[in-house]
Amino acid sequence: MIQQVVVVGSSLAGVRACGGLRAEGFDGDITLIGAEPHLPYDRPPLSKKVLSGEWEPDRIALVRPEELDSLRLQLRLGTPATGLSTTDRLVTLRDGSAVPYDALVIATGAATRRLPNQLEHDSIFELRTLDDSLALRSRIDAGGLRVTIIGAGFIGLEVAATARLLGNDVVVLEGAAAPLVRGLGGEMGLAVTQLHADHGVAIRCGVQVLGIEPAGSGLVVRLGDGDSVVSDLIVVGIGVSPTTQWLEGSGLTLRDGVVCDATLNAGVPGVYAAGDIVRWPNAQFDGEEMRVEHWTNASEQGLAVARNLVAVGRGDQPVAYSSVPFFWSEQYGTRIQFIGRAAGDDDVRVVKGGVSERSFLALYGSKGRLRGALGVAMAKPVMQCRKLLLENMSFDDAIEAAAAF
Ligand code: NAP
Repeated sequence: MIQQVVVVGSSLAGVRACGGLRAEGFDGDITLIGAEPHLPYDRPPLSKKVLSGEWEPDRIALVRPEELDSLRLQLRLGTPATGLSTTDRLVTLRDGSAVPYDALVIATGAATRRLPNQLEHDSIFELRTLDDSLALRSRIDAGGLRVTIIGAGFIGLEVAATARLLGNDVVVLEGAAAPLVRGLGGEMGLAVTQLHADHGVAIRCGVQVLGIEPAGSGLVVRLGDGDSVVSDLIVVGIGVSPTTQWLEGSGLTLRDGVVCDATLNAGVPGVYAAGDIVRWPNAQFDGEEMRVEHWTNASEQGLAVARNLVAVGRGDQPVAYSSVPFFWSEQYGTRIQFIGRAAGDDDVRVVKGGVSERSFLALYGSKGRLRGALGVAMAKPVMQCRKLLLENMSFDDAIEAAAAF
């Protein structure tokens, strides 16, 4: 009998799990534990509308106050979990307290990576939390700064676009051969480079950052080719690592995330995981084990674990979670969306529009099968590709079908 559910992680996946439990009729206690002191908020605007100052933090609440009441949560915010005993069914917190559970949802997400020996300096920023976003905003909102972004991933590119729109001089330094190349290939890299160049932002790829040093009132980034970049402010956006430190010694299998089965169970009865932290076999892609760091995945997995917890509590079978991953980004008002999976060696075909037109739909295929679709300023056609992916369509048939969207 499940009476007490503990959800660790008060961001999207954790909050969706709480909502899902109540929606499924769970009437017992739910404790929501969060590392940050804030009520749950949505992260995508942190690098866009909150950073630009267009939105204030009250616009990004994940749960409205009246909804919070109806969820009947015991909130333990600002108290990160530091340990887990699955034998005693206890989560320990930084304040020394321990919270017992009958069922547990692990949704602690991921934390920003740092450069080796990264200098501590009040002009070097990372962006993951609301506090990070507000602190950075207070420095770049007046414009006129030389801003260097390290990493041309989602954070780097979105922050670059926002900082530029606020009137700063921006340069982006990326280690790989093209921006976003690891996931999305050269086509996408070219499109993004052009989009930023249109707005006066240079993306320098294939550079090695050796280190950051103070220089007068600013900073200098030393590069592997002997060059250096003088900056007033630096944003490091070089990816994230799953927040699993508190689970070490718990007996759960940790491998760049919490390894789960197809139902998102973490290998111990009653212990599930959801969101950026989960590594699970996705039946939609022949059981390929994956970890997905995007909003839709966190939202869907939070709901899926809630359904499975309630089902198991009732004595029913849990259901496998399979999905077609989806993400979007917005830079200079241009919407970039991707649905499916992409790998560096995929066959990529532009089927509508053109890269030089800053508006196109490209399909990604592998072994004769459609694996993903990318749209730049092509919102509707990308979403229409979801059906083709769910049908496991052959790459050739998908090219023909998508050209007509
Ligand atoms: P990310 O998307 O993983 O991109 C990090 C980029 O930095 C990669 O291109 C990486 O190249 C590069 N890099 C790594 N080390 C570097 C170094 N020493 N010097 C220069 N470049 C380096 O991570 P992120 O942009 O930091 O974003 C963090 C998280 O937030 C991710 O989970 C992301 O999905 C999420 N997020 C999502 C959205 C969205 O969906 N719209 C928006 C913002 C953030 P390699 O790949 O070669 O390592």
